[in-house]
Formats: sequence, C-alpha cells, structure tokens
Amino acid sequence: MQQNGIQEAGEGKFCPFCKSRLEYEYYQYSHVGKFSCPNCDYGNYPIYKEAKNINLKTKTFEVDGISYQIQDNSIYTIYNYVAVISVMNIYHIDTEDVIKALSKFALNNGRLENINVNGVPTIINLAKNPTGANVSLRLLKEDEDEKELLFVLNDNIADGFDVSWIWDINFNQLQEHKVTRIITAGTRPYDIAIRIKTAGFDPEKIIPYENLELAVQELYKTNVKKYVIANYTALQPTRHAILKK
Ligand SMILES: [Zn+2]
Repeated sequence: MQQNGIQEAGEGKFCPFCKSRLEYEYYQYSHVGKFSCPNCDYGNYPIYKEAKNINLKTKTFEVDGISYQIQDNSIYTIYNYVAVISVMNIYHIDTEDVIKALSKFALNNGRLENINVNGVPTIINLAKNPTGANVSLRLLKEDEDEKELLFVLNDNIADGFDVSWIWDINFNQLQEHKVTRIITAGTRPYDIAIRIKTAGFDPEKIIPYENLELAVQELYKTNVKKYVIANYTALQPTRHAILKK
C-alpha cells in the first residue's frame, strides 16, 4: 500500500540536521514514508510498530499479528491508529481494549465523515492545505466506484486570502478514476474550477456555483456517490447544506 513517485509538494525533502536530500524507499504523502538521510543516517530507526496486511476494502490491518477492524479506510488514519497502538503498548493497556476502541471509533464533523443523503453515500473531508486535499483525492482515486466531487473553496480570513495552494493539489487523472462530474463552490469557485480544468478534466463536466445551496442542489441531481472536499471556513456551511437534504 504505497505510492511510487512523488506526485505532490513534498514537505520533507531535506534532512533537518544536515540538509542533504532524503532518500525515500517508498512514499505515502507529504513527508510520510520510509526515508533516510544518506549523509547522517537520520531516519534509520528500528521500527517499533508496523501495520501489515492493510486491506482498505475490508477496513482491516494487523500489528504484531493482531487484526484490527476499523471504521474508515484511509492510509493516513491507519498511520494514526498505529501511533495509538504504540502509545497504548507503552502504557501496557490491554490489547483487547484497543481492539474494541478502534472498532467503534468513527470520525465525524467533516473529518472523513460518511453520511447517507437519501440513499446517496457521501464522504465529507476537510482540506486546509495541499497535503489534506491530496490524501482526500487519493482516497477518491482508490475507490473503484463512479463518483462526483464537490470542492468548496473559501478565502476568508481564517482560510488565508491566498488560494495559490490549490496549484499544489494533484488533480491529475480524476476521469480515469471514474469521477464523472465536479461541482465547485465557495467564495472562489472559479479559481478551483480553472485549477481542475488545467489538470486535464473535461471542462464541460466542471460546474462552478457562487451559491452553496444551489451547488449542493445540483450535486444531488444524480444518485452517484459523492465526495466533498471543503476548506476551513467552508466545511461547516457545506456540511449543513448537505445535512439539510
Ligand atoms: Zn542528514
């Protein structure tokens, strides 16, 4: 379960101690992967806990031969869970309790939130930066079903007025991954639409809306599965507009 080649803005390309370029054995996202510094050996640590047999379809993975069933299916939450398992292990917390807790833990409030809107599966995820957006899009690409995307981009004070970060998002090959339509909204619907268009997505299938309610209305004109990505101040208004449906 790993990506070959870096297709996004790598945040950790250089060694923080000696500034040499890090060498990645494999790469997941942002600076996460198996890396080491060829000069000072930074990154060559023994692995404490390792997730194996990761199956995003059945939402299972193993650590030390123990199988964990989880509620979501993204590689970045598995990284978080392995960190949880490591800490629990250090504090000698009973493995059975960890298994039980992880099996019930569901993210919500727009963090990889799964909701059902009149029978249409909808996955909402917050993305405040290219890394967050890229992991959301990776999830979408790993999903073999046909789907539509709503991207809501705001440029309010809390978001930052500069939206140039959207040019570091990897929007390539969305059509190849069965994205059949994209609706954009927020205070900058045209910026995000143009960004997606320049990544090669059919412009006829990109629909920008200045009004969020109308965008959501348009989104649910079909029964195709939905992925929703919204940035900071866009998240709650988008959630509410969808939950109202
Ligand atoms: Zn180094």
